[in-house]
Amino acid sequence: MQLSWTSFLLCAALAAAPADLIVSAGKVVTMDAQRRVITDGAVAIAAGRILAVGPRAEIDRDYQAKRRIDRPDAILTPGLINTHTHAPMSLLRGIADDLDLQDWLTKFIFPAEGKNVNEEFVRAGTRLAVLEMMLGGTTTYTDMYYFEGAIADETKKAGMRGVLGQTIIGFPVSDYKTPQAALAGAELFIQKYKNDALITPAVAPHAIYTNSPETLKAARVLADKYGVPYIIHVSETQKENDDCAKDHAGATPTAYLQSLGVLNTGRTLFAHSVWSSPADIAILKAHHVGVAHCPSSNMKLGSGTAPIAAMLDAGVNVGLGPDGPAGSNNDFDMFEEMDLAAKLAKVTSRDPKVLPATKVFEMATLGGARALGMEKEIGSLEPGKRADLITVSQSAPNAWPAHDVYSMLVFALNASDVQDVIIEGRPTVENKRPLTLNPIEVRRQATAIRAKVDASLK
Ligand SMILES: [Zn+2]
Repeated sequence: MQLSWTSFLLCAALAAAPADLIVSAGKVVTMDAQRRVITDGAVAIAAGRILAVGPRAEIDRDYQAKRRIDRPDAILTPGLINTHTHAPMSLLRGIADDLDLQDWLTKFIFPAEGKNVNEEFVRAGTRLAVLEMMLGGTTTYTDMYYFEGAIADETKKAGMRGVLGQTIIGFPVSDYKTPQAALAGAELFIQKYKNDALITPAVAPHAIYTNSPETLKAARVLADKYGVPYIIHVSETQKENDDCAKDHAGATPTAYLQSLGVLNTGRTLFAHSVWSSPADIAILKAHHVGVAHCPSSNMKLGSGTAPIAAMLDAGVNVGLGPDGPAGSNNDFDMFEEMDLAAKLAKVTSRDPKVLPATKVFEMATLGGARALGMEKEIGSLEPGKRADLITVSQSAPNAWPAHDVYSMLVFALNASDVQDVIIEGRPTVENKRPLTLNPIEVRRQATAIRAKVDASLK
């Protein structure tokens, strides 16, 4: 009897396939095609990818992991996807608030960046941003800034996933003095990272009002040469639309970009799209342009309300982004973006049925992946996808008693409730403790640079 039991256990162990990691939780929100929410569920992971998602008992029967994380009191979800930000601007947090976008940019941000932004600044700012993002459950972020190669290096070192766009802009900036030089630098950056597991390089012309039509077109040619995303701010303010109409025979910025031919090919992501007309929304849909909705930024800068419900109804892929922390937010909190996206849509339409929690949580996960053209890789918990997932603790009073998980995630839980973060199968935050960045060192560097920025503006 003893022998046969041993044999049985041995056979069971042999039958269980090897995994690197099993993560289990009280609820697993999969965002798969059936939108399964599994009570007492688990995810098995190997070589950075998801092997299986299912009831914990089944996963434990079928897989034997070297390591496990068990959170019976937490919700396990896909990692959150930030579709628009400017990470190193973390070091300019709160430098100038409560201003019009054009004044904020031209009187404060561009001068402060001109005097302070160098590779060291960008590296320290990225470490700070990535630390905050990871602790808040973001597993992929989308960036537009200068020295994007240094941002990629720091992002990769921290084990974070990034879609990182080298800025192309029509005047001399910290890294390149001309748009031609920026395009040449962007090409080298793309070549270096185009096959990286964590980094997706991108080309990011800043906006139509800071780039010539030739540059906007050349950036498209470069993006398409390597099949990387083209990321641009579009229709952020009414002024941008008014100026575009004056300069381009009444066209909206979206119609202008279409007329240049830059929407005909490749992957495109528009940040903001606040002042989008129904005709613009049809263009977004026809050209598969993704939209990064930034409710905090749009509210704080008084930009307006993007017609997100109409975009979703039209089948446009919409994700969420906090935008930069220097004056348009001022943090990287995706839980806050979810909460505000829902409430902004409801208050402006005076209809509480608009943008329900399920749709908003989708924007923060699978919708963001679709907007980036990465839905085959990230955005949901499904076998074969990259293993980017988080657990969100329900141990704090703001989580009691738990009813609907989507309502909890969008309206009640906070970034500070995030307990574990796994990116590409690797834990980067465990039980709220960052494993890949040293917060004391990150803070020391940020404080030292703040002193330099302050002195430069006197
Ligand atoms: Zn922006």
